[in-house]
Amino acid sequence: MSNYIGKTIEELHELLVSKKVTPLELAKEVIEEIKRENTNAIETLAEKEALEFASSLNEVEEDNVFWGIPFVAKDNFATKDILTTASSDILKDYIPCFDATVIAKLKEKKAVLIAKTTLDELAMGGTGTTGHKGITYNPYDPTHTYKIGGSSCGSASIVAQGIVPFSLGSDTGDSVRKPASYAGLVGMKPSWGRISRYGLFPFAPSLDHVAYFTRTVKDAALVLNVLAGEDLSHDATSSINAVPDYLKDLEKSLNGKRIAYIKELNESIKDQPILDGMNKIKDIFVSLGASVEEVSIDLRLLAAIYPTYMIISCAEATSNNANLDGIKFGPRIGEEKTYQEVMMKARTAGFSELIKRRFVIGSYSLFKDNQEELFLRAQKIRRIVVNKVNEILSSYDAIVTPCGGIIRNPFISNDNISDKLDQGTMAIENHLAMGNFAGLPSISIPMGLDDGFPFDVNIMTKAFTESECFNIAYALESKLDLKNIYAKKVGE
Ligand code: GLN
Repeated sequence: MSNYIGKTIEELHELLVSKKVTPLELAKEVIEEIKRENTNAIETLAEKEALEFASSLNEVEEDNVFWGIPFVAKDNFATKDILTTASSDILKDYIPCFDATVIAKLKEKKAVLIAKTTLDELAMGGTGTTGHKGITYNPYDPTHTYKIGGSSCGSASIVAQGIVPFSLGSDTGDSVRKPASYAGLVGMKPSWGRISRYGLFPFAPSLDHVAYFTRTVKDAALVLNVLAGEDLSHDATSSINAVPDYLKDLEKSLNGKRIAYIKELNESIKDQPILDGMNKIKDIFVSLGASVEEVSIDLRLLAAIYPTYMIISCAEATSNNANLDGIKFGPRIGEEKTYQEVMMKARTAGFSELIKRRFVIGSYSLFKDNQEELFLRAQKIRRIVVNKVNEILSSYDAIVTPCGGIIRNPFISNDNISDKLDQGTMAIENHLAMGNFAGLPSISIPMGLDDGFPFDVNIMTKAFTESECFNIAYALESKLDLKNIYAKKVGE
């Protein structure tokens, strides 16, 4: 086994600075581990590019913690000269001629991109099963029965195996924060606009966020220090708010902080260890001088989050993916005579069932006769949810919730079963999308282990208070003994 498995960004930095390992040696080790990994987490291994870049890093940069640090990125970030498929057949040959801003920023910091990772096709989905390479497995489950979740499944798996210390993902509904829970990781989604989305393939731009995985809260703060910031020349939705040093407030006291638990969500938990975890965390908060109170959100409103999310995200997706038409993007199939035929054949062959179903939902809700009833209504419900969440956050510093109600989830698509679920299940399994509706910082961190399977708790704070979010997460992490866990370590 590699000597570098399970090391954090900080630990690897120390090894690199003291020359116990070089960026090239480290990149080679990581590549070997990735070749051996068996969760089907990789779309493209950028071996040649990674080795070339790592071997150019000869001058140690003591003040730059990212110097020589290996990472992987979800395959919906454009990477110059490296295949970028979004795990979809329609983009199976697409090689971008530019880097996404986040990739460029990490390159500038001399972090080494090792591979592109699998996702649910075009980031639509939460199961890690719908990408064109098939199922991505959970490294905590050698029996391959339970999902790692998605859509950022591959990026979650590689960090959960301890192979790299961080990875990039995207989060439109919960696609980083939910797999973080199944994989025992820190999953961070900052405020909408905090990180430039230039080069991230759009799914539903009013909800899309760049997000990422680490195994410690401190590493998560370090990563945001690099990724945050305006990028107006490329992404007009990126925020011009000043970027603080996210390490600064990590160790602040929680004394006097007011934490809200949501009663209806706690009542919807199915697995007892999750409820026990929430109770334990409450005691920790209290011991740190914070107070925890239960507040209410009508269960019907919580259960409405998923259908609302589906209408808005599918409508936006239908329109944003209109360029995947076999003309601008996607393979030309056969000798079609009209452009309609070109589009129809390319899209029929290029998309899986799930994507087609979502485009049908999106088109249907945008259809003139249905707009009022579906699209506009969904936007109104989104507003009600946002108002409710912001109202709670006007009296509390954070909303703390479980990431879901079940620890071990078998491979069934949300899309197939959601119409048969009860309100409690709908609410507890999909509420993290509140953070996308309102564009709030939201971090998942490990809260417990049940028979070797991890599960996370989520912390959400007011817009652009990432420092506060990290502060609360850091305090909890330091009391929970689940810092930097990864599959091999837990399995030992
Ligand atoms: N599970 C959600 C969906 O199915 C979230 C996807 C995401 O955040 N990209 O769309």
